[in-house]
Amino acid sequence: TRNIRPLVAGNWKMNGLKADLAIAVEVAKGYDTALKAVVDLAVCPPATLLYTTTAALIGSRIATGGQDCSSNAGGAFTGEVSAAMLADSGASFAIVGHSERRTLHGETNAIVKAKAQAARDALLVPIICVGETKDEREAGKALAIVKKQLRGSVPEDSTAAGLVIAYEPVWAIGTGLTPTAADVAEMHEAIRTELGRLLGKGVAASVRLLYGGSVKPSNAAELMNVAHVDGALVGGASLKAEDFLAIARAC
Ligand code: PEP
Repeated sequence: TRNIRPLVAGNWKMNGLKADLAIAVEVAKGYDTALKAVVDLAVCPPATLLYTTTAALIGSRIATGGQDCSSNAGGAFTGEVSAAMLADSGASFAIVGHSERRTLHGETNAIVKAKAQAARDALLVPIICVGETKDEREAGKALAIVKKQLRGSVPEDSTAAGLVIAYEPVWAIGTGLTPTAADVAEMHEAIRTELGRLLGKGVAASVRLLYGGSVKPSNAAELMNVAHVDGALVGGASLKAEDFLAIARAC
């Protein structure tokens, strides 16, 4: 029994050429009435495909999102893509603070927060990613690290409908490893509690908390049935329409 409508979002990462629009089209074909009744879907292709993916999905009720956005509104920032540009390309969401951005591009909590704010200014819903490394988990610091990331990267005036959190343990991303259901339950409950401190309990109660990290059809049912898990952020498996749909069905 859920009181939050789940969201399954696909992060294509730096994969996808025009021909791969076929994946999105295939997902739309499989998003039937039964599935529409229970789960929201979003596809986050590379920025180059955002406009055409959104166009290909018109009428499907599947949303699109960017994988990152600039914290700046516009101007002399060569190579960056603004939140307004994502919105103009049809996006409803922007992933911010993905661990690959935090690790490979040095994004701090403060930068992630500024990006989340920029996304909201463009009327996008930020999907803010948090998660501990393997060392941090082994040192027993996972909860403390994630709470700190939340305090540093979630805008204080976020609304429930205007915010999605994705818990993605860094060591589970693209590795085939996943935390136990008990560890996910503990973390998601802690995230909800921390959001309550930051945003108020009423808001925190309805923010969607996604789990991400090696979600696939074979483990989706177990992970999606954990308390306070309101969907998934899916990397690798989102590039196969069948797998992505199977994960959605597991909600
Ligand atoms: C991700 O990068 O957001 C992710 C969850 O990747 P994967 O599903 O491939 O582990």
